[in-house]
Amino acid sequence: MMPQNRAGRMAERRNRDARRAGVTPRCRGFGQNSVMNSRTPDLLLVGGGLANSLIAWRLTQRRPDVRVTILEAGERLGGNHTWSFHEDDLSAQQRAWMAPFLVHRWPGQHIRFPNCRRDFSEPYLSITSDRLHDVMVAAGRFELKSGVRAVELAADAVTTDSGERLAAGAVLDGRGPGPSDGLVLGFQKFVGREVRLAEPHGLTVPTIMDATVDQHDGYRFVYLLPFTDDTVLIEDTRYSDGGALDPAELHAAIDRYATARGWTVIDTLRGEDGVLPILMACDLERFWPADDPVARSGLRAGLFQPTTGYSLPQAVALADAIADHWPMNGVQLARFTREFTREFWQRTRFYRLLNRMLFRVGRPEHRYRVLETFYSLSEPLITNFYATKLTLRQKLRILVGKPLPILDALPMVRERRFLEREAQKGSDQRSTTPR
Ligand SMILES: Cc1cc2nc3c(=O)[nH]c(=O)nc-3n(C[C@H](O)[C@H](O)[C@H](O)COP(=O)(O)OP(=O)(O)OC[C@H]3O[C@@H](n4cnc5c(N)ncnc54)[C@H](O)[C@@H]3O)c2cc1C
Repeated sequence: MMPQNRAGRMAERRNRDARRAGVTPRCRGFGQNSVMNSRTPDLLLVGGGLANSLIAWRLTQRRPDVRVTILEAGERLGGNHTWSFHEDDLSAQQRAWMAPFLVHRWPGQHIRFPNCRRDFSEPYLSITSDRLHDVMVAAGRFELKSGVRAVELAADAVTTDSGERLAAGAVLDGRGPGPSDGLVLGFQKFVGREVRLAEPHGLTVPTIMDATVDQHDGYRFVYLLPFTDDTVLIEDTRYSDGGALDPAELHAAIDRYATARGWTVIDTLRGEDGVLPILMACDLERFWPADDPVARSGLRAGLFQPTTGYSLPQAVALADAIADHWPMNGVQLARFTREFTREFWQRTRFYRLLNRMLFRVGRPEHRYRVLETFYSLSEPLITNFYATKLTLRQKLRILVGKPLPILDALPMVRERRFLEREAQKGSDQRSTTPR
């Protein structure tokens, strides 16, 4: 049957030309304006989430000759996400190549604690999975195999749930969070609802933390992203010792918060929830053995800001690094990505120390005081904290101001000892758990 519209007719003509030229039309998904032959891809990305999508984008932007395939279990790239970040988390060059995915840029941010309210001038930005998917599909620079689940990964091949074996020059595992062997974690867990209100909410910039709410289940705050005058994402968040999420309780807390602000919710546009890792200590060899031949990206590679669990800046940095160092075969890419994680973990040791103090010293309901003290520090320090670019002087400044009992904090200093104690605690708990 002849396609009715102009785009459809053009795509049909391209496919006909491609067949005459001896190449097969691309599998599905990506732009109607390109075709692929049956040669194996140079890079097979397993998981079309944030990290792998950005790698595909950046690599093919810098190296149009590289053949990239994304294998995604879902139907669309990125799932259903809004990813936000502080402007200085990315360099100017990184912001330039990320620009097509941007949907919001607010000119500042705000925080509220019982004894401290502050406005910051650093812009805050968001990208969405919808925009990411649409832009990438329209660019048509790589192949998407969606609705396909990988079950077995090797350095240069993947087996899918239908038993098909797909060969590639290199395989990169970006399937999101995986086993946490060798990691000691706390959790940032949240439920968010993007809602429409009966009246304008009056917010002009995001509230990164409103910690004037009751404190329970660890450090509790509400995060607000005002998308339009009368729509806002309200997210109830806990920095908690346990990863179990009680969505009903958090939804009720969101309702109470909206009422307390005098907002009448007339519609819910979108919902999200998450349990993000907060890294207190890590053992790379256990998490990612040196002889593992499969490359990793994103959360699967342990690449996230240790104190927030957010991963967009690290995903952007890895995408740049891979594009800079291409070409690589599967084993080389595995070594490269593992080394990237090793270097990042080395550089962010200080954050894990802060997390150990936050989660293991003092009472959970008093955690907000640590954050309140932190937010009284200078704006350049806070900016560098989020961007994992703290100077030595800034690190010392944070430690000096911490409202924690110094004697209790001392045992947190040495990470290896902490890991051993936590492992011992785990084995004690296991040996006392009734079978
Ligand atoms: C609700 C929520 C909000 C967040 N907000 C932010 C934020 O604002 N800013 C920020 O920086 N971080 C945020 N994060 C944290 C983190 O950045 C995201 O989780 C991010 O999506 C992680 O990227 P990733 O590529 O590692 O994994 P994902 O984006 O989760 O991608 C993994 C992909 O792999 C696919 N997959 C899984 N198994 C298979 C398989 N066997 N075969 C094929 N495909 C498979 C999945 O379908 C998925 O698409 C948020 C997390 C959550 C959960």
